Amino acid sequence: MRIAIKVKKFVEKLFPSEASGNDSKRWITVCPYCYSTRLDLFVGGYGGKIYRCLDCGYTGSIILEVRMDDYLRLLKERKQKI
Ligand SMILES: [Zn+2]
Repeated sequence: MRIAIKVKKFVEKLFPSEASGNDSKRWITVCPYCYSTRLDLFVGGYGGKIYRCLDCGYTGSIILEVRMDDYLRLLKERKQKI
């Protein structure tokens, strides 16, 4: 439950009404398929954590953890490839 609140805060930080200088150093969790940050903790416990992407439906234990500035670079590169 605490993780879900964390993710919510990430989303709020992703779309801030006012930019803050510390955001570029913030670590965020990203879906490996669609690069969405809307990840929900699906299962958590002894077997490990499984996340679910709210955008593409990906469910699995592998997620990307990147810093905000790396994430923005990732999105840019992805756009250039398409
Ligand atoms: Zn996704």
